[in-house]
Amino acid sequence: MVPAIHRPAQVVVDLGAIKHNVTAEMQHLPQGTQMWAVVKANGYGHGAVQVAKTALAAGATGLCVAVLDEAIQLRNADITVPILVLGIAPAKEAALASSFDISLTAGSLAWLQAADQVLHAAGKQLKIHLGIDSGMGRIGFSEDEEFVAANHLLEDNKHFFVEGMFTHFSTADSSDDVYFNYQVKRFKHMQNLLTIKPKYIHLDNTAASIFGKDVKTDLVRFGIGIYGLNPSANPASPSLPAEIDLKPALSLVSELSFVKQIHPGYGVGYGATYQADSDQWIGTVPVGYADGWQRSLQGFKVKIGDTYCPIVGRICMDQFMVRLPKEMPVGTKVELISADPTAPNNIKAVADKVGTIHYEITCLLSDRLPRVYHA
Ligand SMILES: *Cc1c(COP(=O)(O)O)cnc(C)c1O
Repeated sequence: MVPAIHRPAQVVVDLGAIKHNVTAEMQHLPQGTQMWAVVKANGYGHGAVQVAKTALAAGATGLCVAVLDEAIQLRNADITVPILVLGIAPAKEAALASSFDISLTAGSLAWLQAADQVLHAAGKQLKIHLGIDSGMGRIGFSEDEEFVAANHLLEDNKHFFVEGMFTHFSTADSSDDVYFNYQVKRFKHMQNLLTIKPKYIHLDNTAASIFGKDVKTDLVRFGIGIYGLNPSANPASPSLPAEIDLKPALSLVSELSFVKQIHPGYGVGYGATYQADSDQWIGTVPVGYADGWQRSLQGFKVKIGDTYCPIVGRICMDQFMVRLPKEMPVGTKVELISADPTAPNNIKAVADKVGTIHYEITCLLSDRLPRVYHA
């Protein structure tokens, strides 16, 4: 989608908050532990390049993304620090990744064998991180025999430089540590099978790092915390308190594009699900589900001027309607998502209303919304 720069609707990103969060985490980390900033999915919707540059200026020393194209985008923005692709890139792209000095995740013997051939044909060496499935059930080595065979393939193999070995926790945001500890144990078991020595061992995501479960290793993969969001803000469970001060960076703003008075019996939106029972002022906001402002937000209150006004009728693809307390001028500021965690329209409130986690809300804000940055 084309960014709609001639429409009054923007994702506003406070780079000062990003810097604050990275600095707070750097101070929290044990001496010598690196932070690699996770900027996959366009920096969780905040803008990958801007977030990456801000995080690096504040002390991060590497970057993580989900797919190879995201890594190439960062290289094309003149970023030279290590970049790790956390997902499984096709083995046939091994030479391409190498040519950009991008590190890939190796999660199976078959992948290593296929990449080995590609690198041999291209005469290149690739940096890899061995991905261990210690209980997430997603990607990576989980069987001893296969991992020992991979270790054997990597001994004295000039096509690979083993830059890392890592795993990913599935329950680090939970107050119950039983499964977390099981994953740590599985990882250590796999680590003991190796004769080669990866440069960096890494396990922690934001949750492990800021909820006091951190496994002391060489680096943390810090994602949601960069954006100032508490990883345990899950509608199904109460939030665990973060050990660092998190400052949300993102807000979503627009303006009233149309204002009118309606009379009793008049409907609003598709299906006429809302019907006025009195004379009422209705405002229209030019943002809809194509921007990532989901239909399930019907009834949520957004801030218009100084008042919180309910969304009435179904949210359309490109617009939604609100009930105003009185006549208000076209152009009145609308704040859909507030960066203030105590505001009623904070990102967690939005996620709770949708019945999801805030990660999903920010990632789904579409390209049609321009990202605007301030320091
Ligand atoms: C996304 C991701 C992270 C970052 O997780 P946060 O909860 O955002 O800190 C770390 N590691 C892996 C493998 C990931 O996929």
